[in-house]
Amino acid sequence: MPVPKKKRSAARRGMRRSHDKLTTPAVSECSNCHETKQPHNVCPHCGHYNEKEVLKVEEV
Ligand SMILES: [Zn+2]
Repeated sequence: MPVPKKKRSAARRGMRRSHDKLTTPAVSECSNCHETKQPHNVCPHCGHYNEKEVLKVEEV
């Protein structure tokens, strides 16, 4: 089994982990119901996209 020859230093470990952070999803406001939604997605609250209803949202 291949085994690393040297222990990776804390600095090298940090360099690798600098790419590991999570980002919060982008949020925009629905132009129809003014709820928050993800941009470029149909609004999950009212089913509108670009001022038009494209999906029927079932009431629970
Ligand atoms: Zn909406």
